[in-house]
Amino acid sequence: MDFDAFKATLVDIREELMGRLGRTHHHLYEREERVSAKFSEQSQELESQELIFNLEEEAKAELKLVEEALVRITDRTFGVCQKCGEQVQTQRLNAVPYTRYCIDC
Ligand SMILES: [Zn+2]
Repeated sequence: MDFDAFKATLVDIREELMGRLGRTHHHLYEREERVSAKFSEQSQELESQELIFNLEEEAKAELKLVEEALVRITDRTFGVCQKCGEQVQTQRLNAVPYTRYCIDC
């Protein structure tokens, strides 16, 4: 198990997610309020807020998994399925390095 390579990948993913969260957070909470004159604009605005909110929630959940995977690298339990305790398949780890479970679980 090449812990260092996975660690580097996970750190990259973490950077990417944090960048994304910075942007969505800014968009959701830090920009100036815009009052749309027309109702259609308002509802469009709400729709995009909701979309961005969902993106932010997704990024937060993913970030949590990445952080957990990094902890598992530190304590050398990375790559072990959190459910059955078997080694997670390499192709699965390559596809989703922060996965908690093996393909079977
Ligand atoms: Zn499993």
